[in-house]
Amino acid sequence: MIKQNVTKLLGELPAGVTLEAAAKTRTAEEIGQAIEAGVKIIGENYLQEAERAYEIVGNSAEWHFIGHLQSNKVKKAVNLFDMIETVDSVAIAGEIDKRCAQINKVMPVLIEINSGREKQKSGVFPEEAEQLIRDISDLAHIKIMGLMTMGPFSGDPEDARPYFVATRKIFEELKRKPIPNVEMKYLSMGMTNSYKVAIEEGANIVRIGSKIFGERY
Ligand SMILES: *Cc1c(COP(=O)(O)O)cnc(C)c1O
Repeated sequence: MIKQNVTKLLGELPAGVTLEAAAKTRTAEEIGQAIEAGVKIIGENYLQEAERAYEIVGNSAEWHFIGHLQSNKVKKAVNLFDMIETVDSVAIAGEIDKRCAQINKVMPVLIEINSGREKQKSGVFPEEAEQLIRDISDLAHIKIMGLMTMGPFSGDPEDARPYFVATRKIFEELKRKPIPNVEMKYLSMGMTNSYKVAIEEGANIVRIGSKIFGERY
C-alpha cells in the first residue's frame, strides 16, 4: 500500500514540488518502503524515533526535523538531520549553530511561522519572521533557506488557505529584500488534507503522513 500511495502522489505533484514523508510513529520498515517507492525526504518529529529508523534506513533519504526541538536534544539532532524546519527563536538557532560548529557542519534551516497565531503552537508570528531572520543570519553554521508552517488544524482544506497565503506573502517579501547568508528557497506547507491548497498557494515541499502510511493509531 505504501508503495502505491507514494507512486500516486509523486505522479500527482507538479514539477518543483518535493514530497516529504512525515514519519512520526512509523516503523523503519514502513519508512524504507516509502524511500524505495521514491520518497527523497523523511520528516521526523521526535529525535529518538528518527535515531531508531536511521539505524536501519541510513542515508538513503534526507532527514528533516519537523517537530518542536528542545535545546537538550540539539547536539544529537544536528548529527542526524540534514535540515531543521522548525527554528523559531534566537536561542534555538544559537544552540544549533554552536553544536554544528563543533562538528564542522552548516545546517540548513527553515523558520517556522505560527500562521494561525495559536497560543499553544510553536513558530513566530508572520510579522516577527524578518527580525528573527536578521538576528540569526550571521550565524556561520546555520543557513536559512525558507519558511515552514502548519496552520490551524481543520477538517476542511479550504480553511487552511488564508494561513498558507499569509506565509507565502512573507516568503515573497523576504525574497525581494535579500539578507546576506539567507536564501528564500523552500516553502514547506501542506499535509494530507491540505497539500493541494498549499501547492496552489506556493508550497514547494509538502509534508504528508497519513496519505502515504495510512491512518495513525
Ligand atoms: C504529522 C505531521 C504532518 C503530516 O500529517 P498528515 O496529516 O498525517 O499528513 C506534517 N507536518 C508535521 C509537522 C506533522 O507533525
